[in-house]
Amino acid sequence: MTDLTKLTLADALDGMAKGDFSSVELTDAHIKACEGAGKLNAFITDTHDLAREQAKASDARRVSIKKSGGTVGKLEGAPLGVKDLFCTEGVKTCAASKILGDFQPPYESSVTANMKADGMVMLGKLNLDEFAMGSSNETSSYGPVINPWRKNEDLVPGGSSGGSASAVAADLCLGATATDTGGSIRQPASFTGTVGIKPTYGRCSRWGVVAFASSLDQAGPIAKTVKDSAILLQSMAGYDAKDSTSLDLEVPDWVSACGASIKGMKIGIPKEYTIEGMPKEIEDLWQQGIKWLEEAGAEIVHVSLPHTKYALPAYYVVAPAEASSNLARYDGMRYGLRVEGENLAGTYERTRTEGFGAEVRRRIMIGTYVLSAGYYDAYYLRAQKVRTKIADDFKAAWEQCDALLTPTCPSAPFAVGRKVNDPITMYLNDIFTVTANLAGLPGISVPVSLDKDGLPLGLQIIGRALDEETVFKAASALEDAAGFTAKPEKWWA
Ligand code: GLN
Repeated sequence: MTDLTKLTLADALDGMAKGDFSSVELTDAHIKACEGAGKLNAFITDTHDLAREQAKASDARRVSIKKSGGTVGKLEGAPLGVKDLFCTEGVKTCAASKILGDFQPPYESSVTANMKADGMVMLGKLNLDEFAMGSSNETSSYGPVINPWRKNEDLVPGGSSGGSASAVAADLCLGATATDTGGSIRQPASFTGTVGIKPTYGRCSRWGVVAFASSLDQAGPIAKTVKDSAILLQSMAGYDAKDSTSLDLEVPDWVSACGASIKGMKIGIPKEYTIEGMPKEIEDLWQQGIKWLEEAGAEIVHVSLPHTKYALPAYYVVAPAEASSNLARYDGMRYGLRVEGENLAGTYERTRTEGFGAEVRRRIMIGTYVLSAGYYDAYYLRAQKVRTKIADDFKAAWEQCDALLTPTCPSAPFAVGRKVNDPITMYLNDIFTVTANLAGLPGISVPVSLDKDGLPLGLQIIGRALDEETVFKAASALEDAAGFTAKPEKWWA
């Protein structure tokens, strides 16, 4: 039999439907791949026994559904990975932080509940930056995730969804859940030659997803192809009364949008996304992307998003502010780690000092500072006003175009340890991705090329709020034109 881990999710679902192989066979092949990939450190918790049980149940369900003439679930029997930020009932969920200890949620996040109802087989919980704060997966208290792509030394897979990206790129799972607060789906996708989409804010429920910055956090998939990402998002998205910011709207048929013509589509090129010091290769790739979309029938228009340069500073005020509030609940009283002190305040202090890593403590301090009396107006309120300006820039751009094409990141994946002691350089990774979070817009990263060192590079499509359909159309046109099929050499097994 061919190597089942090399299949796309779409092909694996087809293969099971045709009876070419079972979910048990597919799952076993992926478990074997996971067992041989310890060096990548992509998973925090393996749930292989559970996966085998779920696969067996899925095969049985398929037989009985077939008999009754019904349709199987959208993800029936597909072995997938779940970022360890999604609460999973009875399975350790720790957000890669020591402070959550061995917390086993008594409930399931709405997104993973949707996927389970659609037949997902869960291989395990994927590593990430602690509380999803980071751009390289080096802030995890479970150690860094390693990118399957290499250049004489270990490279980062991006962050915070580095485990998801690394596992998909290395064919350890057919797809994975991820979250994106400032770029954590799209940047790791770009760094690993995978596809990652952050939908419109409110499309996927945040209920049961460990909170980082609630007004920016949004779930989405990392997948091998644009179509696979549509299949996954179709299952993950949907209204949920348990999340007050969830959008009460039908989930459109995004899978059909993949491969549809982009003739006449207007693609905007924002001039402010040309930044000083960006490698020429990325600039050239962007130009190539413009040509590809033009050849596919799109019309290119040049647009301006004048407040772009304020996006990163605004993000690094708003995100830490919300994080400092969200993380106040980890006090050693209810769950997770508790380190006794001399008195109550001492217990709080010791628990939080020992439980949180350096980057998380930095964010809590920045957040507390910008929200404190006297500084609130100068920083937090100001950042919120900038956020409105950024959203207005996009609204003006939509008068001229249907979607935007930009690079996903200002660089290719870098070496482990290279930027870890320089937070500002690290924060610059998010320069092209944070704008979509601040404005709540959908954005996708598509792998299109290898750089001179043989490392993957991605381009990003940003769309109007709720218009994932156009995003998927443009992304699959890019994917078709680029024909990116490169895979990393398998050095880890
Ligand atoms: N890298 C950004 C940060 O560190 C974004 C993280 C994310 O999207 N979760 O905040």
